[in-house]
This record gives sequence, C-alpha cells and structure tokens, in this order.
Amino acid sequence: MKAGGHGIGGVERRGLMFVLSSPSGAGKTTLSRLLIERMPGLKMSVSATTRPVRPGEIDGRDYYFIDNEKFEQMVKGSELLEWATVFERRYGTPRAPVEAALSAGQDVLFDIDWQGTQQLREKARADVVSVFILPPSAADLEKRLHSRAQDSDEVIRTRMSRASHELSHWAEYDYIVINHDIDQAFAEVQSILKAERLKRERRTGLTTFVRELQRQLEK
Ligand code: 5GP
Repeated sequence: MKAGGHGIGGVERRGLMFVLSSPSGAGKTTLSRLLIERMPGLKMSVSATTRPVRPGEIDGRDYYFIDNEKFEQMVKGSELLEWATVFERRYGTPRAPVEAALSAGQDVLFDIDWQGTQQLREKARADVVSVFILPPSAADLEKRLHSRAQDSDEVIRTRMSRASHELSHWAEYDYIVINHDIDQAFAEVQSILKAERLKRERRTGLTTFVRELQRQLEK
C-alpha cells in the first residue's frame, strides 16, 4: 500500500494500519477512543454500515449509516477497501480516506472484524498490525453488553452467541490483549503501537539518516 512518511526523531516513516478486533462488548470502542485522543498521528477509519443507528451515535463520526442500495453501489464501484456481513448487516471501510491518511504519513486505526482484517492482510500484509482484544470472562462480556444499554435483550443474546465464533479467530492476530482493566489494556495497546512505529522496515528515512551519521563520524 502506498504511504508517505512522517518522522520519529526526525526520521521519515511509512504509515501503518492498526487493527483492533474483538467480540462486541470487550472494550474495543473505548480503547479506540482513547488511542485517538492520546496518540498523535493516528486517524480513525470511519466505516459504512447498513445497521440502524444506536442511541448516542452520530452519522459520519461513529459510522456512515447507509442503506443496502448505497452499500451495493460502493462495493461495485470498488469504493470499499474491505467489507463483510456481521450480524446480518453489512459493514465496510471506505477506501479513499484511508489512502489519503496513509499518503499523508498518518497511521490509521480500524475497528473491524476478523473477516475485514483478513482482507486488509491480503492487500497490505507489511503495513497491517492487528490486535485482538479478549474479555476476561463470558460473564464480564455479558455485563458490558447490558451496561452500555444500546441493544435489546434479543440483540445481546445474538451477540453473545456470536462471540464464541469471533473468538475462534484470535490466533490470526499479531497481538492479544486481555481486557481485565481498561487502563492496563490501553497501556498495552499503546505500547504495541509505539513499538510498531519504531520498526526498522517502517522507517523509510533510516538509510539517509545513518549515511549522514557516518559522514559526520568520518569527517
Ligand atoms: P457494531 O454493530 O457493534 O458497531 O459492530 C459490529 C462488528 O462489526 C464489530 O465487530 C466491528 O468491529 C465490526 N465492524 C465495524 N465496521 C466494520 C467494517 O468496516 N468492516 C468489517 N469487516 N467489520 C466492521
């Protein structure tokens, strides 16, 4: 995937695609929000979905809420970088904003499921860093789904029964974080991003930087 560079310590670097997945209710939305607030240079990818808007959600901030017809049009026009059907609704990542952010040297954060993560990996393996968030227990997951009070009991039951299927994909991810405590989980996710930003192969400006160091040393 094409990407420009922005620096760490004055060295140019390629943007990365930072993916968080988990069964719903494991704390991924909170972690995403904290990352965006506290990690400069990271931009959230806002997905398009055909599911109804939940109380408190805002069109264009949480999702682009669109109908099936518009979604189909986006698929046909290759406007989605990846897409999948989750809970009988369709979700997809608009391609243009991601490409624009990466080209501007920013990292992009994705809150997508395992199907979308597989598609991103196929398209841009070297630029994808994936993290799977696990709840500490099934009881904890159910409690969080109830406490956010956004879904009906029936929807919560469906989400619980789908959680086990979601979980079965944990081993496809680069990193696993168990969310016992949100502050600890955030610290772990933040460490992953910080370390991945420092990876040699992402730091496209290193050759020039080291050459310049050598030139100075050999003077
Ligand atoms: P929710 O309806 O709770 O917001 O999201 C349900 C699931 O859809 C979550 O696991 C979320 O990560 C996933 N999801 C959200 N947006 C996308 C997307 O653009 N692509 C894919 N593949 N999954 C998504």
